[in-house]
Parts: sequence; structure tokens; C-alpha cells
Amino acid sequence: MGEMNPDLLLKLRKTDLHLHLDGSVRPATLLDLARQRGAQTAQLESIFRAPPNGDLKAYLERFDIVLPLLQTRDALQRTGREILEDCAAHGAMYAEVRFCPLLHTKEGLMDAAVVEAALEGLAEGRQTAGMQARLILCALHGMDASQADRIADLAIAYHRHGVVAVDLAGDEGRGFDLEPFRRAFGRARDAGLHVTVHAGEAGPGENVAEAIETLGAERIGHGTRIFGDPKAVEMARENHVGIEVCLKSNLQTGAVAQLADHPLRRMLAFGLAATLCTDNLTVSHSNLKDEWLLAAHDLSLTDAELGQLLANGFAQMFMDDALEPLGND
Ligand SMILES: [Zn+2]
Repeated sequence: MGEMNPDLLLKLRKTDLHLHLDGSVRPATLLDLARQRGAQTAQLESIFRAPPNGDLKAYLERFDIVLPLLQTRDALQRTGREILEDCAAHGAMYAEVRFCPLLHTKEGLMDAAVVEAALEGLAEGRQTAGMQARLILCALHGMDASQADRIADLAIAYHRHGVVAVDLAGDEGRGFDLEPFRRAFGRARDAGLHVTVHAGEAGPGENVAEAIETLGAERIGHGTRIFGDPKAVEMARENHVGIEVCLKSNLQTGAVAQLADHPLRRMLAFGLAATLCTDNLTVSHSNLKDEWLLAAHDLSLTDAELGQLLANGFAQMFMDDALEPLGND
């Protein structure tokens, strides 16, 4: 069992199933968008450096800087396209990009326009980057049931145009009350959408079990603390729940104190369907290549383990056949 030839590893085309649109705006584009608005670019400087490890607050604050710049159709569409180009440049052949549309209505865009702009960007990116991609819509902790319903309504309305799932994101540490989301996620599932939930990242492993039980999660974002709850491990294994692992992000948010503590290898040993993802290209200063190099070199995964990660990514894709261009209604 030798180390995989790094050239070969990097040449293999992969999936990225956990990637936030607002955390992945190209730095040059952020500067451009800020200048277009006549905004100060000085505060953007912090984003152009890698975030410190172990500082969740500093990590989340980076989104506050980006979001005001993503309030127009053009900005969202451009970002969608560029993300796929950047993903493809680092070896992705399929990506699921996610965001919360309600965060992009601060300057008057309607919910539907936000989703359409992102879908149009992804449609362009699929062409220019030569890869496949789908969209996931995120609900956020702290939302009420009517806001969760708005997310589900959008996902259902745009399902055949490339929205494949709903997600629950946001600050898991603020509490993990899933009740406001139960009805909306149930409606989304009934309409044929998939479900992924951020759980066991800032919160305990029990949250993973709750996300599977209450919201029907088929994949879990991070799940870093899953081994804190044997029941969660068992449920995830038996139900073939995908675990979207983002190594760099886990260090930066303090989900693990050091890479050596990361349970990725243990996940694979327990038969959990872990897959490597980036979380945020810009906010995390990451790309798919970096994540795979961390797994191969810093975590010293074997060829067999890396192969399993690769296969899990493809097995856990939410992509289905439904994809009709916008504007055909
Ligand atoms: Zn995430």
C-alpha cells in the first residue's frame, strides 16, 4: 500500500457535494462588485487571507462582508458561473452548489429571481466549465416555519430546473430546534427533493441522529462529531447517509482542533459514506485539490480509502434526470 501518485490523484475528476455559493465568490469578483457599488474594498482584504484555525466567529463574520455584494441578479449569475469554472479547474466534474435565497432579497429581488439568477449562472458554468452541477436551497437555524416553507416552495418550483435538495444550515451552536423545519422538509421530500442537513459540526453527534429522524436527512454536512453518538453512527451506516466532509473548514471553525483528530478515516472504517467537499472556496481558502491533498498526505489515507471517498461522492450525488431550461413554463 503505497501513497497514491499525487499526479494521478489530482488528475482524477471528482465531485464536490458541499459548496456554499456566498462563501465561494472569486476574490477578483468581490473587488469588482464592491467597486461597482462604490463600496470600500478595504474590509475585503481579510477575506483574501486564509482564516485563522479554531475561530468559528471569525469564520462566520466573513459571510457578512460578502452578502451585501450579492444582492443583484448579475452578481448571483456571475458567481454561479465562476464557481463552476473554479471547481472544474481543481478537478471537479460535478458540484452541488448551495445557498439561502432569502439572504439575497435585501435590495428588492424577489425570491424567485434570486433562484433563477443562480440557476442561470450554473447553466452557463456547466457550458463554460464543461461539468455538471445542481443547486441546493438552504434554510437557516433561527428561521420560522413560514420562512422554511418559502425555501421548500422555491425548491419545489425549481426542481425540474436544477434544484435537487433542501439543506438546513446556519449556526448549529445556537440550538438545534428542527420543529420549524419539519413540515417544509416533509413537503420537499414528498415532491421528490432530497435532504441534507448541517449537523454534528459545532453541535453534538446526537444532532446527526435527529436530522435523519426528524427531517429525513439523506446526507449530513460535516458530521464531524458523529462518533459522540453511537446511535447516529448506526443510523447513518444503515441508511447509507452521505457524510460531506470538509477538512479545511473543520479546522477553521474549530470542529476539530487539529487534522490528526479528524474522524475521516474512522468514518470510512465504520462504513460511513464519507465524501470530500470544500464548503467554501473563498471563505475557507480551499479547493478540491487542496482537500484531497490533505486527505492523502496529511491524513495519510491509503489508495483504497481514497478510492472509497471518490466512489462515495458519485454514489451520493443528488442529480436526477429532470433538467429543463428556465423560461419554458
Ligand atoms: Zn456548509
